[in-house]
Amino acid sequence: MNNKFIRNFAIVAHIDHGKSTLADRLLEATGTIEPRLMKEQILDSNPIERERGITIKLAPVRMKFTLDSSTIGRVRLHTPEVSLSHSEYILNLIDTPGHVDFSYEVSRSLSACEGILLVVDATQGIQAQTLAHMRLIKDTKLKVIPIINKIDLPAAKIAEVKKSLQETFGFADSEFIEISAKFGVNIDKVLEAIILRIPAPVSDSATPASGLVFSSVYDLHKGVVIYVRVFDKEITKAPLKLYASNTIFNPIELGFFTPGMQPSKSIAAGEVGYIATGLKDLSLAKVGDTVGFASEKFVPLPGYREPKPMVFLSLYPVDNDNFLLLRQSLEKLHLSDSSFTYSLHSSAALGKGYLCGFLGLLHADIVRERLNREFGVEVIATAPSVEYKIKMTEGSSRTIHSPEDFPDPSLISEIAEPVMYTTVYTPKSTVGAMMQLCQEKRGELVNLQYLSNQAVFTYLLPLSEIILDFFDRLKSASSGFASLDYELFEYRKVDAVKLDIILNHDKVDAFSQIVVRENARVIAEKLVTALKDLIPRHQFEIPVQAAISGQIIARADIKAFRKDVTQKLYGGDRTRKDKLLEAQKKGKKRLRQFGKVEIP
Ligand code: GDP
Ligand code: MG
Repeated sequence: MNNKFIRNFAIVAHIDHGKSTLADRLLEATGTIEPRLMKEQILDSNPIERERGITIKLAPVRMKFTLDSSTIGRVRLHTPEVSLSHSEYILNLIDTPGHVDFSYEVSRSLSACEGILLVVDATQGIQAQTLAHMRLIKDTKLKVIPIINKIDLPAAKIAEVKKSLQETFGFADSEFIEISAKFGVNIDKVLEAIILRIPAPVSDSATPASGLVFSSVYDLHKGVVIYVRVFDKEITKAPLKLYASNTIFNPIELGFFTPGMQPSKSIAAGEVGYIATGLKDLSLAKVGDTVGFASEKFVPLPGYREPKPMVFLSLYPVDNDNFLLLRQSLEKLHLSDSSFTYSLHSSAALGKGYLCGFLGLLHADIVRERLNREFGVEVIATAPSVEYKIKMTEGSSRTIHSPEDFPDPSLISEIAEPVMYTTVYTPKSTVGAMMQLCQEKRGELVNLQYLSNQAVFTYLLPLSEIILDFFDRLKSASSGFASLDYELFEYRKVDAVKLDIILNHDKVDAFSQIVVRENARVIAEKLVTALKDLIPRHQFEIPVQAAISGQIIARADIKAFRKDVTQKLYGGDRTRKDKLLEAQKKGKKRLRQFGKVEIP
């Protein structure tokens, strides 16, 4: 197969702008999926993906597209070497996850392509992730095809959206394709543009074979399966090596996605396919790594980066007896998602559990939900924390991920926290409220720019503030219209302290938090009030206190009271009484005993 007839591309879009729907239409138009097997958002295979309408794992697919005779005529005007007899193209579509937590995977999958379809919702226009994606590809040679979707909707503002795309990214008027992915309008124009505008892959036959690993999954029968884009030569079923992890393996099978796995003898330069490695440990096959022949000296492809967890929280089984199940579940889950970390962690209050690191809050949420759904483990999670880099007075330094590891303040000389380069995209009318929010969140304004009706500003914001309640407040301050994207900028000095919660004179370690000193009092007040309202009354009075280094800074008391659920029933109906007691017992399962105090 000649390179000239291959096109590798990705679809990128802000969430809900129609990426998966367009992918569906392309699969149909190329006859890759039989109409009777077609279901919506077919590439989103994970049930959580389907429910939330987001893509977590990249699912590449190879499509064959044959030009009809009239199209061949048009194509030959641009590409004279296309002969009338050869009209079949191979289109490799790589769907990308839309969420900021997974931007490294997005950047790697973009490296596997020569072009992208930038899909923008005609009713929404540019959003934060549209900008983030364009920033990711700024220094690449990727060809961008701007596509305006949802033109069927009455609220579509096609001209306005075009104008802002032109102003922001400099597209020419003739470059736009207006489509309705839902109703299949102008899908043929998209296919033609892919062939005409996106360059064919270029390869170098003089260098040793090499392929970029842009995703990986764990398969029960085939072990770790890596998704690769081969850049040079051709990869065959000989012993192969993963460069960064220095792992040699004998591939079990290799081939293409159609979209199921279709075995083949080799994957040639310019092609996108899979290699079943037979390896049992997913962490050996990292995204961004390079694969080549074990017998050759190949050069790693640029851009490799270790996945870096940014958000940390501890997970404890709701039922203490389920600790073993939690451990086994995490081990199994890690086989299919090696981007989270977990290490044993115990808490005086909650017992044995795991301190886990995630790419972001959504990632944490997905793992928690999978634990529940796929393994039946219900977990309690502590408040999320970020990574702090601490310099000690005696000269050493340490990195901590949990408030419980916060050292004695008298031994600390400096603390640094992650600060993110944050882009907020919002309607002009909400700029004041947004800026106020960002200031309150210790943000430092970098840039503010207006694009027609929208404002885009960039702030340096501490991640600890972003994971607190930033997203919810951003949404409410902008009536749901603002969108957000961020990436790590640097670690910055911060005056942080550990805030402890003392319940009935006992410290509850699971409630400790690392907070900025100047906000400590406000947070402490909120916490003790919330706990006071949450914890049911007991037979004795319970003081709820918040303290820094043993010094109390806030307090609320829970008055004594015994709740008798049966008090309203006078004798009589035995079954009703039993039912109520049963309900109370069930409720108790969700309560935790802290000394003499129970907490829901
Ligand atoms: P993604 O998050 O970018 O993958 O977006 P989806 O493809 O999941 O689409 C989000 C929503 O927009 C779904 O409810 C789609 O049915 C809807 N949608 C996608 N394309 C169109 C379109 O052209 N017209 C209309 N009216 N709705 C669309
Ligand atoms: Mg999608």
